[in-house]
Amino acid sequence: MNYKNEKDRIIELGKRAYNRGFVASNDGNISIRLDEERFLITASGKSKGYLSYDDILLCDMQGNILEGSGRASSEIRMHIMVYEERSDVNGIFHAHPIYGTTLAVAGIALDQPILVEVIVSIGKIPLVEYGTPGTDKLPNNIKKYVKNHEAFLLEKHGVLTLGTDVETAYYRMETLEHFSKIFFNLKQLGTYQTMDENEVKKLYQARKNFGVREDVGVY
Ligand SMILES: [Zn+2]
Repeated sequence: MNYKNEKDRIIELGKRAYNRGFVASNDGNISIRLDEERFLITASGKSKGYLSYDDILLCDMQGNILEGSGRASSEIRMHIMVYEERSDVNGIFHAHPIYGTTLAVAGIALDQPILVEVIVSIGKIPLVEYGTPGTDKLPNNIKKYVKNHEAFLLEKHGVLTLGTDVETAYYRMETLEHFSKIFFNLKQLGTYQTMDENEVKKLYQARKNFGVREDVGVY
């Protein structure tokens, strides 16, 4: 089986996302860039909790399927756009986790420095304007933010996260969802403090230790 190792990684992360309730039914899509010309992506209409090797397609950057049967994910253009714009990104995760999606539907961005872990690993998370799934509108809207952010709330839709590898993209999904829950609770309490600007700058510097760029997700 070609690309068994990469497919195993996608299958494992699909299970984790499904078990944590980040996706319902056949929602979500996961991809790994192999080189400049090709990437693996989950096929359309498959539960991410029960992926098999055959459910992961080899595609080129024009969106053609090179190996595998079935339809490519309806969001393939979103993945291609990210790979074209970000040479440092080699893994992409798209899902509909409950709290992150709740904020996306409510039209609330996670754009305030509140939690240390989030500031270090992701930074500011913008709300991307709505675009019909499967059309060029959504990738075009994400394009405005893609060079400067690692995670995105997609208005009325869900969440997108990027990484130098797909595991990093997945962990950003976990971190974003965790933060979304906390932010939801803070909203109910009606009180929270944003972090002091100088403290935030120190955290940007700390990113070096975690392989995160200093210049992304800046508040
Ligand atoms: Zn979606």
